[in-house]
Amino acid sequence: MSLSPGRLRLAAAAGLALALLGGALLASRRQASSELVNDSRFLMGTYIQLTLRGPDKAALDAAMTAAWQEMTRLETAFDPWKGEGPLHRLNDSPAGTPVPLGGDVADLLRLALDFRTRSSGAFSPTLGAMIRLWGFAEMADPHLPPAQAIADTLPHVDPTGLTLSENGTAVRTDPRLLVDLGGIAKGEIVDKVAQLLTRRGVNDFIVNAGGNLLVRGDRGDGPWKIGVADPDDRDALAAKLAVTDLAVVTSGDYERFFEKDGVRYHHIFDPATGYPARGMRSVTIVAPSCGLSDALSTAVFVLGEDRGLALARNSGAEVMIIGNDGKIRQTPGMAKYVTWTSPKRGG
Ligand code: AMP
Ligand code: MG
Repeated sequence: MSLSPGRLRLAAAAGLALALLGGALLASRRQASSELVNDSRFLMGTYIQLTLRGPDKAALDAAMTAAWQEMTRLETAFDPWKGEGPLHRLNDSPAGTPVPLGGDVADLLRLALDFRTRSSGAFSPTLGAMIRLWGFAEMADPHLPPAQAIADTLPHVDPTGLTLSENGTAVRTDPRLLVDLGGIAKGEIVDKVAQLLTRRGVNDFIVNAGGNLLVRGDRGDGPWKIGVADPDDRDALAAKLAVTDLAVVTSGDYERFFEKDGVRYHHIFDPATGYPARGMRSVTIVAPSCGLSDALSTAVFVLGEDRGLALARNSGAEVMIIGNDGKIRQTPGMAKYVTWTSPKRGG
């Protein structure tokens, strides 16, 4: 969808509503000298929103079309649960079968396995069996499984049940192990789309995949502004950030969850226990790479505040955590991006 000036305000408002769901894009204003195109689609189980700014509307429209094509290709490649992509083929293959993954998927799986080590196991790309057991795979039917089923599944999330060779061929040696790159794939796709846009000469844009954002350049009359969602109220913000040439990624317990007997069960699992991680409400990362920020946001959520902040610092990232008490805590370097925090969050 490209925008005539008259439709822009309406579309920006719609963009705000979408962004609040996933962690956010605030209104962008059009400058006389530049065009703005804005479009969103439902891919990878979430709303993807693209906002491109530049002098040539035809070039922006063409870049937008190419970006959707690339995302559709990568959605298939990284889908663990259905379709013709290599990851689903791997999960669907009998144990012992070598499955060539191809560059994109092999590289991301390797990165994810390395990051598992760096995060002391908090981030894990081999949690698929546990995620499916809880019904969070494709949001089929999220539910609380019997404790015994969780205990029975736990040994099958161990990454020793998978081998990945130098040439990008993977083998599941444990027949019950399933690979799921859901904690890093959206960020990686955002990075790849950003590279595509840059190659096409678009220098000012936001790519937002359900709270995994990459921001380049500015909106013409100032920096792009990003809202951090309030975990208690999807229509409100906990904080606003102004960033340029950086990724902003949020993982939160409000994104995918169900409640049973007054307890919230969400989609970010502690690989050590097989249950949702309990340390906080949300974590927002600011760092150059969206893929790394995506993995980091998930890992920090699992590690809890002290160990999570230490991992982020070692990774060169800034972090904002909203704790179970609702209070905001952040690394010192985060302060330069924060333009506002909600008074009730005490930030
Ligand atoms: P995110 O919203 O980026 O924190 O990612 C959550 C998604 O990553 C879930 O929907 C699962 O597919 C997957 N996931 C859940 N827990 C973990 C974990 N501890 N490590 C890696 N991926 C996970
Ligand atoms: Mg993540």
